[in-house]
Amino acid sequence: MNNIPAKLFIDNRWCDTTDRDPVVNPATEEVIGEAPVGNSGHIDEAIAAARTAFDKGPWANMAAPERVAVLEKMLDYFTARREDIVDLIVREAGASQMLAGPMQFDLPMKHARTLLQDALKIEPKMTPIELTPAMDGTRTLGTSVTTYIPRGVVSAITPYNYPFFLNLGKLIHALVMGNTCVLKPSPFTPFQALVFGQAAEAAGLPAGVLNVVTGDIKAGEQLTTDKRVDMVTFTGSDKVGSAIMAQAAPTLKKLHLELGGKSALIVRKDANQAEALMAALMGFTIHCGQGCALTTRILVHNDIRREFVEQLAAMANGVKIGNPADPSVQMGPLIREQARQRVENYVQIGLDEGGTLVAGGKRPDGFDKGFFYQATLFDNVDNRSRLAQEEVFGPIGVVIGFDSDEEAVAMANDSEYGLGGGIYSSDVGRAYEMALQVRTGTLAINGGSGTMLSSAPFGGIKRSGIGREYGVESLLEFTDARNISFHGG
Ligand code: NAD
Repeated sequence: MNNIPAKLFIDNRWCDTTDRDPVVNPATEEVIGEAPVGNSGHIDEAIAAARTAFDKGPWANMAAPERVAVLEKMLDYFTARREDIVDLIVREAGASQMLAGPMQFDLPMKHARTLLQDALKIEPKMTPIELTPAMDGTRTLGTSVTTYIPRGVVSAITPYNYPFFLNLGKLIHALVMGNTCVLKPSPFTPFQALVFGQAAEAAGLPAGVLNVVTGDIKAGEQLTTDKRVDMVTFTGSDKVGSAIMAQAAPTLKKLHLELGGKSALIVRKDANQAEALMAALMGFTIHCGQGCALTTRILVHNDIRREFVEQLAAMANGVKIGNPADPSVQMGPLIREQARQRVENYVQIGLDEGGTLVAGGKRPDGFDKGFFYQATLFDNVDNRSRLAQEEVFGPIGVVIGFDSDEEAVAMANDSEYGLGGGIYSSDVGRAYEMALQVRTGTLAINGGSGTMLSSAPFGGIKRSGIGREYGVESLLEFTDARNISFHGG
């Protein structure tokens, strides 16, 4: 499989497993490889290796530039294998080529290189010199230094939709700050994670610093309940995020959770129509709707809504669906048949709730293989309905009308999630005032900067998560502040 071993990577050794799981290309339903499946013994060994590497190895105590130099070599390894990895993103995750290359490989690599530089900016901080009262009635002149120490052993658990991006994001934050890791990917995209074992080997990462295991819920449970694990960094659904919180509670682990969303795109009546339409289309069709921060709730001013919906429906009907091995394909498949059935179920829910289906709503013709579904758009949707409130994780957009900015902001905020969002308006000042009122972790005005910026913190509030990735503050989440005080004079 793309020259990636079908073995687990534990303590710098490649370990065989007796269990194997066929990994399916969601566009063709062909088996692309037999992935190893770790058992509880493998997970135990991986945690033990990470624990020993943290407690006894050099990694946690290395100077930051030394760690950065090793991790740069890992990134160089990925760069040299770009073609292989992008091909695997297409075949394992079903991403279109325009998404797989620039967005799922180049962008996270740029973020990772920036993050390594950001890590070098984190230095010990002196607290101000202070006079503090002593018990004998005198006063002491004192000061202290705060250093940022790694948290310890980190379990990194990832979903299937942006496998390379998310595996890299999790590991680079944790490793550069001196933690040791056990990575467990989604069972749908195991090979994307095993390539990190090869990169660790190539870069000369000390034994046990990075371990890569596979498996599903049982493996995830073990990685979030074992008392030798100090922190869990998880990206996935809010449902599993809350389960992990409960699993990690008895052993009081630090949690970093990047969860789901139902983000709103607000289109004011003064918006540039062509740009807003394109953003609206992308918001539910990119990666077949399988993106956490996609703007699947499209709030459109009622004065322009009828024409906007007509045009958006026409654009949705024109999306080229197919096997992403073809570079002209715009929208690939859902990850598995179960995911497609979930989308079909939500279409029925939307109809039952009184929404008007204006585009899509069924499996596309002409495919006897692959988990494809049409780009689907509903109008006249009630923001309180299930279709507007629940994360579908499929290619369904809902249009909801509004009459005032206040109503648009109130509806955007009327969600259990708080991940992303967007506002389109030619009055940028007004859009900024509205953006300040929207309760989400990120928001883009008129498309923002095009893509996510490398030092911009990313993450959610409410049911979309706890903590941030990227930027100096996010790196600190993978550390603890330790203060050492001493006499100042
Ligand atoms: P999922 O939550 O079903 O699974 C994610 C991972 O958790 C998998 O590796 C799975 O094996 C593991 N897991 C399942 N049960 C577990 C348990 N009890 N304990 C520990 N681990 C367990 O998510 P998915 O279907 O793979 O991905 C889609 C979800 O991910 C969506 O909700 C999406 O919004 C979210 N997501 C969020 C972000 C973000 O940055 N906020 C990015 C991408 C995806």
